[in-house]
Amino acid sequence: MPDLLRTIGGNLARVRSSIAEAAGRAGRRADTIKLVGVTKYVGPEVVRALVAAGLADLAESRPQQLWDKAAALADLPICWHQVGHLQRNKVRRTLPLVAMVESVDSVRLAAAIDQVASELGCRVPVLLEVNISGEAAKHGFAPSEIEGVLAAVAELRHMEVRGLMGMAGLAGDLEDARRQFATLRALRDRLRPVCPNGITLEELSMGMSDDFEVAIEEGATLVRIGSALFEGVL
Ligand SMILES: *Cc1c(COP(=O)(O)O)cnc(C)c1O
Repeated sequence: MPDLLRTIGGNLARVRSSIAEAAGRAGRRADTIKLVGVTKYVGPEVVRALVAAGLADLAESRPQQLWDKAAALADLPICWHQVGHLQRNKVRRTLPLVAMVESVDSVRLAAAIDQVASELGCRVPVLLEVNISGEAAKHGFAPSEIEGVLAAVAELRHMEVRGLMGMAGLAGDLEDARRQFATLRALRDRLRPVCPNGITLEELSMGMSDDFEVAIEEGATLVRIGSALFEGVL
């Protein structure tokens, strides 16, 4: 399907150049920002076009959809990220499929991930999800909880806390999003020097299709982009 590939390739090039421009405005190198494509809106054939166009870091928000896509696309070298709420009873089936869980939103989930990872004999990179908008419908720890959570998960040897993830609120404009992203970065910068051993907090996953440029200006190292990659095919 040459048209599909051309459309997706054009979208990917546009997103990558916007990432590079935002990085430039912030005096950052574009290669310090990883683009993760969120494929929840599309089927496996469109994901194939995205991989063919050159993006292999992909994410799903629902574990069941991640399982289905990973199975349908098992022949491709995709690094999957789980970016939405992960129920504890879905950890066992999800962990073998993913390179990172970006949405650890409770200490009980962290403990379940650690348990399964120890059985699998692996160490799973994770991010702690922080509810930076304060919206009740959002998952994630309150910013004030994170220091205690880091202490609580410090002994979990099969889980590696790489950083923090946050989503801007649905209500609010770009400047509200910018303030929320700046809050996440400030939290990370404050906790980094006092982190327990083995926790580095180098990653800040923030920014989606509508707000990734301000997220990059505020320090994002991972941006999770869905709709902007699929314009013209949705
Ligand atoms: C859907 C989703 C995204 C991508 O959203 P777009 O606005 O389509 O770019 C990013 N992160 C999470 C957690 C999501 O659920």
